[in-house]
Amino acid sequence: MAEFAQSDTASAQLGTLYIVATPIGNIEDISARAIRVLKEVDLICAEDTRHSQRLMQHYQIGTPMMSLHEHNEMGRIEQVSALVKQAKNIALISDAGTPLISDPGFKLVREIRKQGFRISPIPGPSAIITALSVAGLATDSFSFWGFLPAKSSGRKQVFTDLSQHKETLVFYESSHRILDCLKDLKEIMGDRELVIARELTKTFETVLSGTASSLIEKVAGDLDQQKGEFVLMVSGAEDKVVEIDLATEKLMLALLEELPPNKAAKIAAQVSGVKKKALYQWALDHKG
Ligand code: SAM
Repeated sequence: MAEFAQSDTASAQLGTLYIVATPIGNIEDISARAIRVLKEVDLICAEDTRHSQRLMQHYQIGTPMMSLHEHNEMGRIEQVSALVKQAKNIALISDAGTPLISDPGFKLVREIRKQGFRISPIPGPSAIITALSVAGLATDSFSFWGFLPAKSSGRKQVFTDLSQHKETLVFYESSHRILDCLKDLKEIMGDRELVIARELTKTFETVLSGTASSLIEKVAGDLDQQKGEFVLMVSGAEDKVVEIDLATEKLMLALLEELPPNKAAKIAAQVSGVKKKALYQWALDHKG
């Protein structure tokens, strides 16, 4: 049930660090609460203060900003911690989406949490969830692997490591590598079902789905499909169907006359070389 808070930043003895999600493209995709918090806090730490100017101007947010990016994050931790101690409220934003998701902020949040200060999330867009919500791939379980390595050998290693995972796999990819990445993926994982979500919430939003081969053809044949920001989603590995030959089936039936399924499966596995797990499942499927 929704709750309506009047103010998140009411005065307290210690300040709070707010982790605020901002749009991933469309400037309207920001919550009313995020705008209010950005107006109310004493300081906004932004990945790139110039980049975030547009958002600040659009929503008339006049709060002072300070940069916090991967190269100065360690140094900023002390400053933020000192300010929170002085009851100042701070917001952290990144260039797009939810901070810390393939963006700076992890070290800051970890340290501020360790020091016992309050950290509060202001949720909003993230490219991963936005992409999964329209992909039509299984979302009951998925894993996110951030950016793929820039080199083909590194990408192939990642695909090899993940090729047996059964859950949907989600990656971030940049425009100049998307085609090579699809080719590497096909080489290692075969003709899996894929979805590429490009430029989500922006003018040229495109969601392409199909096998690796069909998407390679589409992306190679249309330079526009190689531009912008991408989320690549890969359907999980399917369970391999284990073939059980007639002789093994007969053996299983005979053993099941005398033994419980797990013992029958163990003996039949030793005789036939078929995996015990598959034989046990066969026994359960053929009960009675
Ligand atoms: N923190 C962000 C989030 O919550 O999604 C992600 C930041 S990460 C540095 C940027 C990458 O996210 C892009 O290279 C792209 O892979 C993905 N991304 C961000 N915005 C996107 C969009 N509008 N459409 C598709 N992918 C996007």
